[in-house]
Amino acid sequence: MKIITSIFDLNKEIKDYKNIGFVPTMGGIHAGHISLIKASQNKKSKTIVSIFVNPTQFNKGDDFKQYPRNIKKDIGILEKLNVEYLFTPNTKDIYKSKAKKFNLKKKDKILCAKYRIGHFEGVLNVMNRLMTIIKSKDLYMGEKDYQQLYLIKKFLSKKFKVRINSCPTIRINNIALSTRNKLLKKRSIKKASEIALFLKKVKYKSKFEGTKLASYLDNYKKKLEKKYHIKVDYLEFRDEKSLKLNNFKNKYRLFVAYEIDNVRLIDNY
Ligand code: AMP
Repeated sequence: MKIITSIFDLNKEIKDYKNIGFVPTMGGIHAGHISLIKASQNKKSKTIVSIFVNPTQFNKGDDFKQYPRNIKKDIGILEKLNVEYLFTPNTKDIYKSKAKKFNLKKKDKILCAKYRIGHFEGVLNVMNRLMTIIKSKDLYMGEKDYQQLYLIKKFLSKKFKVRINSCPTIRINNIALSTRNKLLKKRSIKKASEIALFLKKVKYKSKFEGTKLASYLDNYKKKLEKKYHIKVDYLEFRDEKSLKLNNFKNKYRLFVAYEIDNVRLIDNY
């Protein structure tokens, strides 16, 4: 595996390759990331994984500082997977050029965008920069971050003529894998697993009870907060394609975000 830190070196290295699969990450490589890498490798394309903890997408300074980093371990995992390129740029290099700024409109300020002010603007900013550098035809992203996937499709897929390959969420003990899970105490992992199982059941029941069940969501939210001592930001059924509040006619998902041990967890079912 070639580890490349400068944009200049990366451009030199990949300029002749047409089908490159790009897997952007913030490191702390886990089975969720690995599933994206394998999806890229299955297409027989060379794969670039980036590891860049993007400061502009953190709306709290502490969250950025505490974000788990372990580049040595990550390199070991990626080498074993026979990834061709690891791109680990530094912040100065990524942000040195002028680039378009993204602003979300009111209708997109829902779910995480409502609670993490500026987060997706930061994600779009860095993805715009990374994709300008890498110019891959195939991008691999996880459904765990469903709203992120939705916004990247909306704002960037046309500009870069990129195919966005969305990959299913990988869970262990019902909990969606996330680099942030490393910050959870054992006790909270057990709670998170119970919460996830409960939400899976809510989704299942909604198939039969539809709107009736949706009207119970507020109660479920309060129950979860009380029973597990967590702060639930949102618990909402939304349309799978438009992310509009759901009418139970089209395909829909149950979206959740909550905080436990000061760690914010999200998932969708
Ligand atoms: P991150 O390193 O958390 O920024 O994630 C990098 C990419 O991996 C994003 O496209 C995520 O959606 C995806 N990802 C993270 N966790 C999972 C998971 N549990 N299952 C599938 N994809 C994931």
